[in-house]
Amino acid sequence: MSIQREELLDELRRVSKIAGRSPTEQDMLTHGKFAYSTYFRYFDSWSQAKSIAGVGDTGDKKMSDGKLLRELKRIDILVDGSPTRREVDRLGEYPSSTYKYRFGSWNEALREAGLPLNQHSSGGGQYEYGPEWDNRRQRVLERDGHQCRVCERTSAVLDNSLHVHHIRPLKEFEQDDGTTELKSANRMENLVTLCPSCHRTYEGKHREYRADEFVRLIRESGSY
Ligand SMILES: [Zn+2]
Repeated sequence: MSIQREELLDELRRVSKIAGRSPTEQDMLTHGKFAYSTYFRYFDSWSQAKSIAGVGDTGDKKMSDGKLLRELKRIDILVDGSPTRREVDRLGEYPSSTYKYRFGSWNEALREAGLPLNQHSSGGGQYEYGPEWDNRRQRVLERDGHQCRVCERTSAVLDNSLHVHHIRPLKEFEQDDGTTELKSANRMENLVTLCPSCHRTYEGKHREYRADEFVRLIRESGSY
């Protein structure tokens, strides 16, 4: 017997009434005729099925962070690697946009859930900046004369501990699959050489500015 989509939707509405909420996987197990997994064979996603049935989640704001993170860990068990936004949209109780909204970014939600980020590392955290990072970093240091652009302390004085700072932070270049759009993130004008102390002070500041303007703004304010 082939199941009709309409039948699946009716069942969602019925279970929703019994459970008194937007049905969860557990609700389907307890009260439903069909398994939760049946739904994403017939619909693009579980949340899409619920929304077509008119029993989707609406009260996102009421959801606790803990509940969202537990759900993320549940999906983590079902998939290969950490869940991507697409996987959460397909399998999850809540749309991936809820996570992005709540935690600021997809990777931030994964971090909060204690799950590894989806950039398969080939050599530690550096890979987060991309395979071209070493070259790009050198070009920025050369452009900036191997000194902090704000306080002008040099690499010699600082014992080589200059940082190359992303003015607009990497996490703002995150794409739907949780990877980072590195080409834009690592463009020269988004990078500036800073000493560790200036880096701490100006992290996340003036993020809409290009390197030259970023430096000018800080130097003119005389706050360094
Ligand atoms: Zn400095």
